[in-house]
Amino acid sequence: MINVTKTFLPPQEEYQEILKRAWDNHWITNRGPLVQELEDNLLSYLVTDRVVLTTNGTIPLQIALKVLAKGGEVITTPFSYVATTAAIVWEHCTPVFVDIHPEYLTIDETKIEEAITDKTTAILATHVFGNPCNVEAIEAIAKKHNLKIIYDAAHGFGVTYKNVSIFNYGDVSTCSFHATKLFHTGEGGAMFASNKELQHQLFYSHNFGHNGPLAFHGVGINAKMSELQAAMGLTILPHMSQILKQRKEIVEYYNTNIDFLKLKKIVIREHTHWNYSYYPVIFESEEKLIQVQAALNQNQIFPRRYFYPSLNTIGFTEKKTMPISEYVAARVLCLPLYAGLSNNDVKTIVDILNGAIL
Ligand SMILES: *Cc1c(COP(=O)(O)O)cnc(C)c1O
Repeated sequence: MINVTKTFLPPQEEYQEILKRAWDNHWITNRGPLVQELEDNLLSYLVTDRVVLTTNGTIPLQIALKVLAKGGEVITTPFSYVATTAAIVWEHCTPVFVDIHPEYLTIDETKIEEAITDKTTAILATHVFGNPCNVEAIEAIAKKHNLKIIYDAAHGFGVTYKNVSIFNYGDVSTCSFHATKLFHTGEGGAMFASNKELQHQLFYSHNFGHNGPLAFHGVGINAKMSELQAAMGLTILPHMSQILKQRKEIVEYYNTNIDFLKLKKIVIREHTHWNYSYYPVIFESEEKLIQVQAALNQNQIFPRRYFYPSLNTIGFTEKKTMPISEYVAARVLCLPLYAGLSNNDVKTIVDILNGAIL
């Protein structure tokens, strides 16, 4: 069986070796040495300045919204994983959808200003499939209207835009280290802050508000990454160049061998060093998608409809049509892409796809 992704598991001995340090320290959570080492290693790997590791990739969205959006209206994309919208609603903010760009699939920055009201406090946009939003235009709009910017960069691991880590854009960027993501700690995540004060606020918010054992800066919650999670990250990080190399080869095979007469692929924004995180293709119609999906499924190949349905249609938000997002969501399919997917399997996937699309 071939799924859309397959979790990368490092050699077990390597994981054991790092886990042994947690046993030796007799310390498995509360920001022990492994979490701190993973933070240091990620800062140098990603070339970025401020990170707080978290126990998953959703709670950093919640913390960032709590701290920056303060219950206001949040302008957001309808084309993302449900966590993006759910975090806004969960934090008692109001999502205000703005449609997406038809080729980049990120929020259409030219439509943001018309959605701003006197209740708008923040923009929460997703660098979907690791493709950067128009960060410069969004920054200019936020400045003009005094809004905060949060990026859901769950797919952004290792992406640079204009040679700067994608996590350096916006007030806060978040990432997910879930087992299905490019780099993972089983469950896990991170938040990246644009300045020291904000990092401090995110930091105490993720640790019950603690200021030392007996004092509190303010209200907080528990979002800490454990030592056991950090051990997985520390084991996987040295494998990233090999993982990326293999993914790049698969992407290049798809790019040259898929019959793109009846299909479209995502356009990666110029000046981007991309991370080969997903391989979405967009069909002419939902019928074609279902036809191809069925042919692949028959051969035990299971691509996924990331992201369907369009988030403005899921029922816990105000309904408003988002024509481009709804069009894309009904027609987009992510093909299998992971380190360890064999050349033979990639060829089979392409052959079935090209044969079934006619
Ligand atoms: C995976 C994902 C999340 C949630 O991350 P978890 O680590 O699973 O909590 C949020 N946003 C997007 C766009 C995602 O793909």
